[in-house]
Amino acid sequence: MNEEMWQAIVDCDAAYDGLFYYGLITTGIFCKPSCKSKTPKQENVRIFASPAEAKATGLRPCKRCRPEEIAFRSPEEELVEGVTQLIHEHAHESLTLTEMAEKLFVSPFYLQKCFTRIKKVSPNRYLTLLRLEKAKSMLRQTDESITAIAFRIGFRNSAYFSSVFQKEIGCSPSAYRQMKKHPHEHGVEHV
Ligand SMILES: [Zn+2]
Repeated sequence: MNEEMWQAIVDCDAAYDGLFYYGLITTGIFCKPSCKSKTPKQENVRIFASPAEAKATGLRPCKRCRPEEIAFRSPEEELVEGVTQLIHEHAHESLTLTEMAEKLFVSPFYLQKCFTRIKKVSPNRYLTLLRLEKAKSMLRQTDESITAIAFRIGFRNSAYFSSVFQKEIGCSPSAYRQMKKHPHEHGVEHV
């Protein structure tokens, strides 16, 4: 590995994507230079010319930067992917648009605009829908209280959770649970 390659890895420089790949003998994965994962220790890094070469040594492609994907992605798409990942990682916590923007070093306005254009839904709504999906599966699969579920999925207030749930899903969380857990008592087929 030369100094230039190492610098590209440290800087996550997308200009080097496709020119080389690097693998980590410690984790067994390989990445594109632009991968935003933590900067590795230089002595653990191995350089490869292609994904095939990296895989031949037993390394697996990184799930984060997907080194085998050659398709060009615009900076906006990169950003939206970063937002999506952030939302999935932090959905159970409080996560505001401003916090997302700060973490990704862009303005909230720009983030909202790119995200909404590409995903056809605002970041906040995406987050809400993701939380409600989690709520639905917890209501079906667990006996945790509505309050506990509300907190677990990132709502700080169970009354607010219930009202959002009612508005988006069309019934209260407890009615949803009742219907999914005991469908026949209500004459509704399990779906
Ligand atoms: Zn990676």
